[in-house]
Amino acid sequence: MTSINPLIAGVELGGTKCIAVTARGREIVSRAQWPTGDDPAATLGTLAGWLADAHRAEPFAALGIASFGPLCLDPASADYGFIINTPKPGWSGTNVLGLLAGDLGVPAAIDTDVAGAALAEGRWGASVGCPVHVYLTIGTGIGGGIVVDGKPLHGTFHPEMGHVRVRRAPDDAFAGVCPIHGDCLEGLAAGPAIAARAGRSAESLASDDPVWALVAGEVGDLMASLILTLAPHRIVIGGGVGQGQAELLPLVHEAAAGLLGGYLPGHSLEALRRVIVHPGLGGDAGVCGALALALALLGD
Ligand code: ADP
Ligand code: ZN
Repeated sequence: MTSINPLIAGVELGGTKCIAVTARGREIVSRAQWPTGDDPAATLGTLAGWLADAHRAEPFAALGIASFGPLCLDPASADYGFIINTPKPGWSGTNVLGLLAGDLGVPAAIDTDVAGAALAEGRWGASVGCPVHVYLTIGTGIGGGIVVDGKPLHGTFHPEMGHVRVRRAPDDAFAGVCPIHGDCLEGLAAGPAIAARAGRSAESLASDDPVWALVAGEVGDLMASLILTLAPHRIVIGGGVGQGQAELLPLVHEAAAGLLGGYLPGHSLEALRRVIVHPGLGGDAGVCGALALALALLGD
């Protein structure tokens, strides 16, 4: 058994910045932040040094790591906790778990940033009380985490739902920008794709720009597929694009409702407005995700 409200540690490892914290529950005790450099050994060495100092000052009971990916999350694999095959230069094959937790001697858990965010939303945010829920970020990329009964879903791999293909508007000829798939959802509807479509940044587009109807249709297509596949109680949409445009979510609700066509009971347009929502934790979801991973290790 662990003591009530033990000190825990969390690392949010993002593509551009990384944050380390110690906390009790989600109450941050200490915090530090650095840019994520091109040399993983240097970046992770800095983080590991901070964690070691913090642990010496006051030992923490567990470490949670919420990282960009893709990650190997098969505990039976020799590559468990490694980043694999990322487009981020220099980072493919990095042993994130080993470099951050190897010398600490405390239990450590690693998962994707979006699985962590999903766990955190389930524990403290918009998905409290939901047995099956999803967190989707629409930002520089599109990615999602699925939580079932309090645990992130992993099959042979973690979900990579940003790369599904969605049905396009018939007159939309944009080729898409995903380097692997072209016009997968990420290639059509993430921030850089929107910028490529419009010729200017996503945040500079007017709310009535015709691009938003296309993006909402494509994201709505994923919503309908997730609902038909997982029947989730909640889908949280975050990220710079997902949260940056107040008009986007209502358009996504309408697109999803149209695609579902009234087939499922309890999924009217009005009901979908309660199922597909913005995060409850706002910008804290990443760090809270790392803390939720640490708490899960302690059986809390
Ligand atoms: P990341 O995905 O890198 O973690 P964000 O979730 O902040 O970061 O997403 C960054 C993307 O979101 C960029 O492509 C940016 O153009 C886009 N973005 C940021 N703010 C807005 C906004 N208000 N409206 C639409 N797009 C936005
Ligand atoms: Zn893709």
